[in-house]
Amino acid sequence: MQLIIEHLSKRYPNGVHALNDVSLTIPNGMYGLLGQNGAGKSTLMRTLATLQDADSGTVMLDDLNVLTQKDDVRRVLGYLPQEFGVYPKVSATDLLDHLAILKGITNGRERSELVKALLNRVNLYDHRKKAVSSYSGGMKQRFGIAQALIGNPKLIIVDEPTAGLDPGERNRFYNLLSEIGENVIVILSTHIVQDVMELCNNMAIIHKGRVLYSGSPQASVDKL
Ligand code: ADP
Ligand code: ADP
Repeated sequence: MQLIIEHLSKRYPNGVHALNDVSLTIPNGMYGLLGQNGAGKSTLMRTLATLQDADSGTVMLDDLNVLTQKDDVRRVLGYLPQEFGVYPKVSATDLLDHLAILKGITNGRERSELVKALLNRVNLYDHRKKAVSSYSGGMKQRFGIAQALIGNPKLIIVDEPTAGLDPGERNRFYNLLSEIGENVIVILSTHIVQDVMELCNNMAIIHKGRVLYSGSPQASVDKL
């Protein structure tokens, strides 16, 4: 699996050039997208997650055109947004079950096995009957991982995940992320250099919508 972004540009109506000729090749594994506030990270992540259109450029996930084949991409996509999200007052089990239906998992028995496995995986099984809206920030983000993993995604997009988490929650979150596996592309957007250095095999730095660096985290230290 490989994600190839070529000459991607996006300008907002207010004139801000949020993405300016971005080209990146992203292989399997954990990929860090590093940049300050306003660099264009969220714009790029939302575009990759088929939630927003670009003005020009191409994005290919193997043979899939991410910018045009949105439904096909969504089937293999897990997206974990920046915000903890507004969750309805339904239990974690019911919410995951519902999201699994939306992902096309129609077999009830298969779904309940999956939901149980996901809740165990993110250590929320004991809290499965509680409303997700009542969870702490860290629990919501771990729930977000469970949510993003429904349907065995091949591309997982994680946008500034640890804002507002305490160090313990942050570690638990990152441990879970790093267990996702080698045959999946996980793109982690953050402004925290250390997170990328510790977790990612490859990375890019973006600034004002342009790619300043792409390569290994280690080589970036030597180069910058
Ligand atoms: P971040 O920089 O952490 O991604 P922002 O606070 O910039 O978050 O953006 C939060 C939301 O507001 C996003 O949905 C973004 O698209 C929108 N937004 C950001 N800047 C502007 C702007 N200048 N005009 C309109 N919407 C904006
Ligand atoms: P980051 O996630 O790195 O903070 P964003 O992609 O949120 O960066 O924003 C990149 C630039 O685009 C910023 O200058 C931001 O204010 C602007 N921007 C983001 N969303 C919007 C929007 N919906 N409308 C106008 N400007 C926006």
